[in-house]
Parts: sequence; C-alpha cells; structure tokens
Amino acid sequence: MKNVKTIWQEMQPVLEVETNVYSYDIWIKPLVPLSIKAEDDVFVLCAPSPSGKTEVIAKFLPLLKRALRDVEGAPSDLMIISTDELEDYMPKQDGAAQLAPPKAPPVFDEPQPSFEVNTLNPKYNFERFIVGDCNVRAFRAAQAVADNLGAVYNPLFIYGGVGLGKTHLMHAIGNAAKLADPTLKVLYVSTDTFINEFITSIRNANTSNGTSFRDKYRKVDVLMIDDVQFMSKKPATADEIFNTFEALKNAGKQMVFAADRKPEEIPDLDSRVRSRFASSLITDVGLPNLETRIAILEAKATEAKTIISRDLLTYVAERVTSNIREMEGVLTKIIFLAKLYERKVSLDICKEALKDYLAQVSEEVTADEIIECTCKYFDVSKADVMGKKKTKGVVEPRQIAMYLISEIMSMTYTAIGSLFGGKEHTTIMHACSKISSQIPNDARIRTAVNDITAMVKHE
Ligand code: ADP
Ligand code: MG
Repeated sequence: MKNVKTIWQEMQPVLEVETNVYSYDIWIKPLVPLSIKAEDDVFVLCAPSPSGKTEVIAKFLPLLKRALRDVEGAPSDLMIISTDELEDYMPKQDGAAQLAPPKAPPVFDEPQPSFEVNTLNPKYNFERFIVGDCNVRAFRAAQAVADNLGAVYNPLFIYGGVGLGKTHLMHAIGNAAKLADPTLKVLYVSTDTFINEFITSIRNANTSNGTSFRDKYRKVDVLMIDDVQFMSKKPATADEIFNTFEALKNAGKQMVFAADRKPEEIPDLDSRVRSRFASSLITDVGLPNLETRIAILEAKATEAKTIISRDLLTYVAERVTSNIREMEGVLTKIIFLAKLYERKVSLDICKEALKDYLAQVSEEVTADEIIECTCKYFDVSKADVMGKKKTKGVVEPRQIAMYLISEIMSMTYTAIGSLFGGKEHTTIMHACSKISSQIPNDARIRTAVNDITAMVKHE
C-alpha cells in the first residue's frame, strides 16, 4: 500500500480545485496525514485543534472521502482526529504499523444547529493565548469586552491574517463570559452559518420556523460572527442583518466580529452593515515575532507534555513565520514522530517534520518568481528593482520584494542581501521591518503585498 504522505499528496489536486484558496489554506493545508489504521483500512488525518476537526468534518468530509477514493490503492475510508486524540492513534507497543483502536469512535454526524450545542472550544481561552507585541492590543480589548459585556467596545472588531488568533480570541471572550455567568447565551457562528440560517429562515417564512432566525439571534447576550469578510451584499439579507445588529446594540448586548481585513476593505458590503462594523472598536492581530513564536511553541509543547529544548523550539520558530496554525501543524508532526519512534525530540525529528512544510513553501515559490511578480505588479523593470536606483517608484517595489522573499521563503537577511547584489543584511532587515510596519496602516501597501502573494502562488 502507498504511504500516507503519497496518498495525501495525490489527494491535493482535487482538494485544491474543489475548495477556494481561502478554505484550502485554512482547513485543508493544516491537516497532517498520520497513518493508516491497518485493520480497518482507514486513512487518519489529524487537525490541529478540536474545533478544526469539527469544522473540517462539517465542511469537507464528503469532499475528502471523494478525493481519497480517487487515489489508486488508498484505504477505502478516512477519519479525522485532532491533536488531543493523538495518543489513541499511536502504534501499539510491539512496534507493528497498526494503530490502537480509539477509546471512543469519532463521530461523523452532521453538525448540529449551532444554538443547541456549545460552539465554544474550551481550549481557546485567555490563559492559553500567548501575548506579544503583535496581539497585545487585541488581547486587552477582548479581555475588557469579556469583563464588561455590552458596556465598553461594542461591537469589537478584530482583524488580521489567517492563523493569527482571531478565532481563538473570540472563543476566549465567550468562555470567560460563560465562566462568569453560565446562564448567558453566547453564540459564536461563522458568517457562512449566519447567512445560511438566515436564508433558510426566509425560505421557511410561511411555516412555523419562519421567526426562528429572529428569535435566535435577537435573544443572545453575546453574538460573535467570524470571518465577516464573506458577508457580501445580498439585498434580501442586508436589512435583516442590519436590524439584528441594531436590536442587539440597543438592548446592550455584546457583539464581536472578526475578519481578515478592516471593515472599509471588505468588498460588496451593505453600507449600513459596513458602518456598523466601522463604528466598532477595531483592533488587529499581526505576525508574531520570533520571541512570541517560541513562547507559543513552548506553551503548546508543555500542554502536550512533550519536552523540546529551547534550541529546537527556536529552530522551528525561525522556519515557520507567517501562521501560528501552520506552526502548530509542524509541532503536531514533531510530537507524533517522537512518539512513533519512541525517542526524545531531536534535530532530525524537527527536520523531518519541517520537511513537508518547507517543501510546500519553497516548491510553490522561488525568489525569482517573487521579484518578477513584484515588477509586474508595479510595472517596473527587474533591472531597476535589482539595481541601486533610489527613486521612490523603485525603492518601494524593491523593499516589498525583499519583504515577501523573507516572509514567503523564510530566507535569511544575509541570503536576500546577496541576492540583491551584495546588500548588507541590515539593509534587508530595515526594508522588511518597514514594510511589515506599514501593512497594518497603509491599505495600498497591504493590498500590494496580498496581491503579489496571490500572484506568486498562482504562477
Ligand atoms: P485565525 O482565526 O486568526 O485564523 P485562530 O484563532 O484559528 O486563527 O488560530 C490558529 C491557531 O493558532 C489556533 O489553534 C490558536 O489556538 C493558535 N494561536 C493563535 N494565536 C495564538 C496565541 N497568541 N497564543 C497561542 N495560540 C495561538
Ligand atoms: Mg478564524
């Protein structure tokens, strides 16, 4: 039988085609293929968190099964677990490639309507959230909101890139609020769920279910909607959504929104909904620096009761720079491999765990492609970008190219310096920190960075 990695690789083309770039990055990429439960002919994939597992099952299980069926010689079934269940899927003591049966079989039921089940992940709490320069403002705002529901910062709007802790903070607000008062009705939903339930309620308008949307959403004490960048203008829904927000606001109920960008940059949004978002306290989560990344890895390793030396944590943190979820994925793999080999975590294990991640990062992109896309985007010549001209029209693309090479490829400043004709590493560092500090404040730079990244990844 093929090994899990090959099977997973062969599944990718179907998955990529059938999901949008966003869902693919968020939900599919972080999955780690672990093993094949031999006796049951089941392919096991591990999600980085219990909520990730729930979402993947709800959103992608049929697609994943279909992609698996298309792979010749693959197991006939597939199962999704999360990191907290890893123990159950470790090979048996005799070292055979078989896996121990799970304590409780995972449930693949259809997701329940979101109000009946508690949609908050208890692990996403304030205690487990590592605070650094990149997220301290969002963290404090979230804590203030949890302590003073409806009274300060209402709504709260958190924005930032993928995998940087927005959903974690929202759940943390909900968990803290529920801890203080278990009778509170806290509702966390994705924009998809919110809109789908709304549309269903319109469809059922003539039946007894007709008022359920209004009942449900207007009775909550805390409403949290995630990924509101997907809340595009639909004339039929905008009114009711706006009215729901108004009703909650007037009743002093807390709202929290999260998105990958600021309200003014969300396309196709109803202007009243946009202004409701814009009247929020708006706060961002940014990319964590090395120190914060190490602290996050350290906390996660401790939580998994795995000892990893600081040198090795640093080694990993230096290589996974742009997404905390991906960093968790690498750590999961490290822990898995260490248990599999029944060894302490070593440099070799870290290298092996990082191999796929780095291959995927560098396979997709080369420095040359980044430079070419940047030139194309700004309509400047490659010779100018690589040269010494100091005019603004050239310096900015040059610095953006340097920043992107460092971000996407995790190349060192020294290596980038030599790529650009022997520049000092401090010059590159200056360029990178300049661009990264402009990204939160300057929509033009942010758009350029996002667009060029997208171009590069689709080359
Ligand atoms: P987003 O919603 O911004 O895409 P998530 O909140 O889902 O990101 O975070 C991705 C993963 O990274 C989660 O497992 C989360 O617990 C973890 N994470 C993000 N930020 C932090 C942090 N500051 N401290 C600890 N874990 C974090
Ligand atoms: Mg999220």
